[in-house]
This record gives sequence, structure tokens and C-alpha cells, in this order.
Amino acid sequence: MTILNILKEPDPILRKKSSEVETINQETKKLMDSMLETMYQAPGIGLAAPQVGVLKKIIVIDLAKEDEPKKPLFIINPKILWKSEELNTREEGCLSIPGHYAEVTRPKKCKLQFLDYNGKQKEIEADDLLSTCIQHEVDHCDGILFIDYLSKLKKDMIIKKLVKAKKEEETN
Ligand code: ZN
Repeated sequence: MTILNILKEPDPILRKKSSEVETINQETKKLMDSMLETMYQAPGIGLAAPQVGVLKKIIVIDLAKEDEPKKPLFIINPKILWKSEELNTREEGCLSIPGHYAEVTRPKKCKLQFLDYNGKQKEIEADDLLSTCIQHEVDHCDGILFIDYLSKLKKDMIIKKLVKAKKEEETN
């Protein structure tokens, strides 16, 4: 397992669309294991492959609290089959947008079809935090970030700060 480098906005890779995984092999599993470790170490509750520079539809999620046993969810080729009309507003953050949080309104529930770690097709109906997390990560596979849902003013302000932080990191 390797701890992978998490790309930060603005990075053009984060804006690209990911392609479907055609075969789940050892390499895919190795990537998923490393993504999970990287997410735990960050720490975060969700990570999509484009965030580590791999343009494939692969997501890892674990919503278990610190004192609970780990409960990783591996998602390959996600397809959101249904979204509820009922909406929900939650504060979101992102490992690619460190230090910034904002409220985002999304459908409260969704139904997801995907392949699991072993390539088995699964379907889950998600609510609340899991639903938000799934939608946030699926967005990553389409090159969409949570700041895209904010006002232009707020989004520009966050990007400006991220650019500044990146420059400071480079000079140090
Ligand atoms: Zn994110």
C-alpha cells in the first residue's frame, strides 16, 4: 500500500472526466487499497481516483466514526439511478480543497448502482451523509467540485486562496 499524493484545486486533472473501469484486476485493487489508506491518513471520509491523478471511476468511502470499526465502501463505475426530490443542505469539505468548507444543497437520497471491490454488481439506497458523500464523489468522476455549487463570488474567493496557498507551498 502506498500513500498517494492528493491533487489540489486548481489542478486541470480534477476537471477532467473519468472513464469506466473495464476490468478489475490486481492493479485496480492495489489502487483501491492505496486510495483507502491515503483517505484514512488525510483524514477524510471519501476519495475519488481523479483526486490522486487517476482518471478512472473509482471511489472509496468510509463514514465510520473514530471509535467505530472501519467500514470501507469500494465503488467502481458508479451510476446514480435515482435522486430524491427532497433536498438536504450539509456542510461539505474536500481533500482537494483543504481548509475550506461550505454548505451545499443536494438531493437528500439517492440510489446507486456500482461494482464492489470484487467486481460484483451492487445497488444501495443512500440517505443523508452517505447520499451527500456519494454525490460529491461521483461529481469528482465528472470533473465537478463542491465549490461549483457556490456563488461565483464565493467560488472565486476560495480558488484565489488556494492559488495563494499553492504558491506559498512552492516557495517554502
Ligand atoms: Zn472531494
